[in-house]
Amino acid sequence: MTPLLTIENVAYTYPGGQTPAISGVSMEIAAGSKTALVGPNGAGKSTFLLMLNGILRPDSGVVRFSGRPLAYDSKSLRDLRRRVGFVFQNPDVQIIAPTVEADVAFGPVNLGLPPDDVRRAVRDALDHVGLQGYEDRPPHLLSGGEKKRVAIAGILAMDPEVLVFDEPTASLDPATSGEVMDLLDDLASRGRTVLLSTHDVELAYRWADSVILMGRGRVLARGAPEEVFSDPDLLTAARLRSPALLALSNELAHRGIIDRCPPPKSMAELVDRIERSISDHASDRGGHERR
Ligand code: ADP
Repeated sequence: MTPLLTIENVAYTYPGGQTPAISGVSMEIAAGSKTALVGPNGAGKSTFLLMLNGILRPDSGVVRFSGRPLAYDSKSLRDLRRRVGFVFQNPDVQIIAPTVEADVAFGPVNLGLPPDDVRRAVRDALDHVGLQGYEDRPPHLLSGGEKKRVAIAGILAMDPEVLVFDEPTASLDPATSGEVMDLLDDLASRGRTVLLSTHDVELAYRWADSVILMGRGRVLARGAPEEVFSDPDLLTAARLRSPALLALSNELAHRGIIDRCPPPKSMAELVDRIERSISDHASDRGGHERR
């Protein structure tokens, strides 16, 4: 099957930059996947993501969407940006209108949708992010988490196939981060392809089905989160640490206390596995003593 997005040997240097922000970057993104781009600050994650909907154009290499190389004329870009939505790290960059409703309507209006369709798209998008009743509120008076939701609604209103989130939880408190991640899960479970960048290994480990580890503008590794995050050399090269949950489960598996596979993705799952292992052990012992 053709990957939804294909990136072939892409390089980019910012105007006036001394070294490439990314170089030799190749990867494929499957439709419906949940991909986390993980790496320290300055690794090139944002630069890479900005290539996916044509905000940045590679100096060399090719980005393909559904097998076709991106074209950079304004009509092609408009069409691409409807299909690949980009949610910036800082919602203030994205929110432009004086009310929530006008802001979320901006994309559908620009697409030339009739007024009834615009209203429906705005209502559905606001429902989806849990901001019903916020239509007339001025976005600049909202909390960080609410602004993030407005920015996401603005993208959802165009019904894109791919959603790209640059550091979706940056500067949000833990509860709000959790809500935003639940929303991303929900979007992915409805068949959308979701990519995000983060330096939060805990988040990437729990959420992603595929992790791309980046460092110094290059792809260092790609694979299932439990593989990538179990390799200490890779993590050192990327200036990251193993997710605590994975490190603990690997150690428990190493000591024979739980099975190695599949690695637990939540604290509750890990505790269940330990409990099961204790009860299996107790019934084995009971069996031996009776014999
Ligand atoms: P990350 O998202 O992983 O933190 P970035 O893609 O933002 O990394 O940055 C990669 C490199 O490109 C860094 O060295 C950074 O300083 C540089 N860079 C990023 N944005 C700009 C810009 N607008 N102008 C010049 N250099 C930039």
